[in-house]
Amino acid sequence: MLINLSEVFTLEGKERTWTVPLEMRSYEGADGKYPVASSEPVTVTVKNLGNRKLALTGGTKVTLTIPCARCLEPVEYTCEIDFDQELDMSSSDDDRVKDLDEQSYLTGYNLDADRLVCNELSLNLPMKVLCKEDCKGICNRCGANLNYGTCGCDTRSLDPRMAVIQDIFKQFKEV
Ligand SMILES: [Zn+2]
Ligand SMILES: [Zn+2]
Repeated sequence: MLINLSEVFTLEGKERTWTVPLEMRSYEGADGKYPVASSEPVTVTVKNLGNRKLALTGGTKVTLTIPCARCLEPVEYTCEIDFDQELDMSSSDDDRVKDLDEQSYLTGYNLDADRLVCNELSLNLPMKVLCKEDCKGICNRCGANLNYGTCGCDTRSLDPRMAVIQDIFKQFKEV
């Protein structure tokens, strides 16, 4: 949702808080789209600091459905987001994108709350989400979820580290 900041921009010292719904239905993650399972409204507080600068604070809480990095079962991961930024309204949109080094959530005086949340998610999401700390993953031979029991496959021969050791033993025998 777009928030028009021009009202705050006209008066130094002026502050305003908006509470808007999060409209995005999914987040484009590193390995696919993660659906938004639920979200709290987004709070955005903007204060005019003078010198064409605005302080941006606020936050929200977003729960994404992310596949477990080991077994691919969907995991509901909740990310708490806090904004704390300073916006320089004297720089152009292009400069700002470069400065922030990310897609701009600010176009003219319009702040895109969804994009702002997206940026924060990209900074705050962990590289890997696991369904549980000791997730056993899936069998790389038959694809069975090993959290639900063993599958009976002989996985020893598939461990590349073991294969290397076996090769070394073979070499010793040949010498
Ligand atoms: Zn898992
Ligand atoms: Zn198996």
